[in-house]
Amino acid sequence: MDTAEDCCVKVAVHIRPLIGDERLQGCKDCVTIVPGKPQVQLGTHSFTFDHVYGSSGSPSSAMFEECIAPLVDGLFQGYNATVLAYGQTGSGKTYTMGTGFRDGCQTGLIPQVMNALFSKIEMSKHQAEFQLHVSFIEILKEEVRDLLDPTSMGKPETANGHAAKVTVPGKPPIQIRENSNGVITLAGSTEVAVSTLKEMATCLEQGSLSRATGSTNMNNQSSRSHAIFTITLEQMRKVHPASPGNANPNEDLAEEYLCAKLHLVDLAGSERAKRTGSDGLRFKEGVHINKGLLALGNVISALGDEKKRKEGMHVPYRDSKLTRLLQDSLGGNSRTVMIACISPADINAEETLNTLKYANRAR
Ligand code: ADP
Ligand code: MG
Repeated sequence: MDTAEDCCVKVAVHIRPLIGDERLQGCKDCVTIVPGKPQVQLGTHSFTFDHVYGSSGSPSSAMFEECIAPLVDGLFQGYNATVLAYGQTGSGKTYTMGTGFRDGCQTGLIPQVMNALFSKIEMSKHQAEFQLHVSFIEILKEEVRDLLDPTSMGKPETANGHAAKVTVPGKPPIQIRENSNGVITLAGSTEVAVSTLKEMATCLEQGSLSRATGSTNMNNQSSRSHAIFTITLEQMRKVHPASPGNANPNEDLAEEYLCAKLHLVDLAGSERAKRTGSDGLRFKEGVHINKGLLALGNVISALGDEKKRKEGMHVPYRDSKLTRLLQDSLGGNSRTVMIACISPADINAEETLNTLKYANRAR
């Protein structure tokens, strides 16, 4: 088997505890962790991942240290990274990422990323100058929506269940662009310059609130969209000139510019598209969501396949907005962590198995 180090995509499973509703229904816990191993069992199926976190102890801090902190360190070395929370609606994606901010909860991964980032900046401020930007967008029905757009804050859904279109005259739709260096940019989305932890936390909070909350009988919008919180770190580092003859300590230091970004993605619910409304309006959305998740699965399994990767195999980034946006931060020199979130309840066993299979493709 591949060692985790060889693979550019790491996969962790996060099993949440049974929640109130499931307990009330008398659900049984059907997922077991093999003691001492990153292995989970569901019925007769057994899967091994890079890490498995159960509900006992404090999984999110261990998860942060083992899976995410290395990505934050990498940002300072100029490496892009992506963290993906995958799983059915209700499996704990938003809880794990900390994109909900419902109860000011600070335990999710994003708040921990922010803390780590700012303490590292504080420690390194004599060696470099830093500039941070944040963007927060949502992809719904293959359209990009700016969650930090001050003109669209908190706009509700319209009566037909579609997100209310913000009609700012002359404001073009957000477009994903690739420059000649292969850098992906989002033209037209708000990029907030932040210099304090508090400012960054405010962006997370505002964007989370702005993530529309219109609901139908089965799903709400946040479960049908991908939410992407992106932190861009630019730095001007002071470095000794590279040439070996230049060892004079009094010589002026040269400056080196580095820029890297970290995408923290709360993916759409992975459950099968269902015809949820009496008018069937949701159907198209379900299809589009699957398009993003399907493309992501294909991209990640292509990246995870060492042999194909070496043969320069085509990686189908262009198949969805999601994979297009993440293109320069998935594969190559960048680091990717997928966190497969699952419910332990027996009533969710089928979707849990689907999630474990999807996550297994990534290895
Ligand atoms: P998703 O974003 O995947 O739809 P949520 O993050 O909203 O799921 O989680 C669904 C419910 O389960 C929420 O009430 C949340 O508070 C709870 N929950 C999720 N993960 C955990 C956990 N690790 N410990 C305790 N409660 C959790
Ligand atoms: Mg959620």
